[in-house]
Amino acid sequence: MVFDLICPNKHTFEAWFKDSKAFDGLRRKGQVECPTCGDSKVEKALMAPNISTSKKQAQAAKESAMAAQATQMLAKMQKHVEDNCDYVGPAFAEEARKIHYGETEKRDIYGEATKTEATELSEEGIDFTAIPWTQPTDS
Ligand SMILES: [Zn+2]
Repeated sequence: MVFDLICPNKHTFEAWFKDSKAFDGLRRKGQVECPTCGDSKVEKALMAPNISTSKKQAQAAKESAMAAQATQMLAKMQKHVEDNCDYVGPAFAEEARKIHYGETEKRDIYGEATKTEATELSEEGIDFTAIPWTQPTDS
């Protein structure tokens, strides 16, 4: 079972023991050490509610880091598109169709399309990728 433990320096950590008795035995022999400072005078942490809150906070921090990473990737993709493709604005569907049917010069474009237009394009077998576009913020 997993125990929430705390050392004299208030580092909290988790450790696995077969049971409470096993933990007590190892602790008496000084074999349970704080991974942060190496102190072996660890105790079972009594502030369980606080610990679960900090776990939730850690989880939230992890999730927001992942979200930031996703945003960064998206920004990169957006930059690539902006650098390499012609912006055609709301005429995207029309232009994509013209390119597909060879009515205009073949090139990479990007722009806005309504949901209906997007559906029509895919029904006609026209390749395009929908990416969530972040608008530049004013801040
Ligand atoms: Zn410690």
